[in-house]
Amino acid sequence: MRGQRSLLLGPARLCLRLLLLLGYRRRCPPLLRGLVQRWRYGKVCLRSLLYNSFGGSETVVDAAFEPVYWLVDNVIRWFGVVFVVLVIVLTGSIVAIAYLCVLPLILRTYSVPRLCWHFFYSHWNLILIVFHYYQAITTPPGYPPQGRNDIATVSICKKCIYPKPARTHHCSICNRCVLKMDHHCPWLNNCVGHYNHRYFFSFCFFMTLGCVYCSYGSWDLFREAYAAIETYHQTPPPTFSFRERITHKSLIYLWFLCSLCLSFLSSVALALGALTVWHAVLISRGETSIERHINKKERRRLQAKGRVFRNPYNYGCMDNWKVFLGVDTGRHWLTRVLLPSSHLPHGNGMSWEAPPWVTAHSASVMAV
Ligand SMILES: [Zn+2]
Ligand SMILES: [Zn+2]
Repeated sequence: MRGQRSLLLGPARLCLRLLLLLGYRRRCPPLLRGLVQRWRYGKVCLRSLLYNSFGGSETVVDAAFEPVYWLVDNVIRWFGVVFVVLVIVLTGSIVAIAYLCVLPLILRTYSVPRLCWHFFYSHWNLILIVFHYYQAITTPPGYPPQGRNDIATVSICKKCIYPKPARTHHCSICNRCVLKMDHHCPWLNNCVGHYNHRYFFSFCFFMTLGCVYCSYGSWDLFREAYAAIETYHQTPPPTFSFRERITHKSLIYLWFLCSLCLSFLSSVALALGALTVWHAVLISRGETSIERHINKKERRRLQAKGRVFRNPYNYGCMDNWKVFLGVDTGRHWLTRVLLPSSHLPHGNGMSWEAPPWVTAHSASVMAV
């Protein structure tokens, strides 16, 4: 490699010396002199870019890949808008089918108590899905202040060149630091951070419940519709009206969308369910998705030294849930969890003192 470089640089240097010699003696034509000046300018410019005590091959590679990062970030940002529209259109289509096709059917066949249960549960579930999704996409995740302040910080963001409080991470898609950043969610086209983490999790949870409810609740209707469609090509053909045929197809679409296909082979209910369970495990441990990786590394590092790692933000499973959901009293389980609530999370996302009612407080071992 080194030999190849010197093989190329040798003739280039020789040519340059010849050009410089010609340039100094003012015998060369103006075009050649211009070229020599441009070469010198380019060399100084390149050296000024690379001759930095903080610079190195990593900086050069980062700079070379900057257009690729820009492209990926912008594509994801653009796709984020498509995903949000997709969530709204798919959820809207399920609600439209429920009102236009399922409701007239069950009004004729279901008993009054069963109708009442379905009516109240489905509307409660729908209101919570819409409320939490709207809040998750419109609530900013929280950003650290960029002026002079007295906030305790743990490191400097290499991209923003600003101090970072604990649990703050830089989002390359939003191109700024985010307080208690969990991840950038394309389905929300927004970062999930300190102020909207609860809305994101509640949306996943109630959407999973909604999918399970639709799949399970429409199973009998789906089987009937499927059996009816199979008779379409019999002779003599069945006498279904146009509206009945549309209803059959809509019921099959509703069941499939909620149960089987959206992405690859995983169902919406299963994929969402897995995502919800994963986030529930992280919340129980007092971690975000990013801290999961950092803590894992730290756990291994300390284990090799014969020490035990303790997550400073883990207050115990139940207290972690109470802090996350903002539940201070028993009544809050109803008013803040089972009903739409826009209460703010504990703290300002920059300092992480445990709420006063938290009993088990882990010793602070590391700051993330
Ligand atoms: Zn940053
Ligand atoms: Zn982001």
